[in-house]
Formats: sequence, C-alpha cells, structure tokens
Amino acid sequence: MKAKKQVSRSTAMRRADRAFSLYIRTRDSQKFGGRQFQCISCGRILPIEQCDAGHYVNRQHQSLRFNEFNVNGQCRHCNRFDEGNMMGYRQGLIEKHGEIVVKRLEAEKRRPMKRTVGDLLLIERVYKELTAKFTYQIKK
Ligand SMILES: [Zn+2]
Repeated sequence: MKAKKQVSRSTAMRRADRAFSLYIRTRDSQKFGGRQFQCISCGRILPIEQCDAGHYVNRQHQSLRFNEFNVNGQCRHCNRFDEGNMMGYRQGLIEKHGEIVVKRLEAEKRRPMKRTVGDLLLIERVYKELTAKFTYQIKK
C-alpha cells in the first residue's frame, strides 16, 4: 500500500483539470503531428501553443466537466474573447461527432454529479496514462 497523502478537493480538481486538458489538446493535435490543431468553433488551423481545451457545456456543470465529447481543442480567441463562440462550437461539434452527441450533451447538462477527491485523482491518473499513449506529445 502506498502511503496516503492528504490532497484537498481543490488541488485534486486542479490536477484533474490539468491532466484532462493536456489529454484533449494532445488528442486534437494528432492529425497535425502534434504541432497544430483545428479550432472546434472557428475552424482555423493554428499552432498548438494557441490551443485551449474548450468546454461546450461549461465546466461548472460537473457532469460534463471531464466528458471527452464536451471538451475540444479551441483557439484562445474563441475560448477567451468570444465567450466560446458557441454557435460555431455547436456546428463544429455536429461536424465532428454528429448531432445526436450534441443533443445528448445538452440533455445531460443538469445531471447532478459529485466527485470525491479519490475520483478526481483517478481522473488525473487515467488521463495521464491515455495521453502518454499518443504518437505525438505536446508541451504542457
Ligand atoms: Zn477559434
């Protein structure tokens, strides 16, 4: 048994967010050799350094915070200055995953979800492992 270190909920959440974000950005750069990505909202192909992991249903909705369909590579402009460019995001999601997936995300938005510190640390571990399996790695 590993010694249990006390981790606060906010620290565990931050670590899970960071690991999940890196997973999403790495995933969405694979077809560009880890160097670029295509913004889900505006469709521009940009250097990976400009990639955020942008949520469609915002991350206050815990049920979709770590949902792989709900989070996609998005340019900083759309994510930070255009309030997510939600019209473009929805269209991009339909093209990437199909309308049924988008409708399901919208339906699951209000589902209650409470994660423990252990759940969050597991999410961190899982996404670190999944990220390591990609062919092309990116910088944090
Ligand atoms: Zn964009």
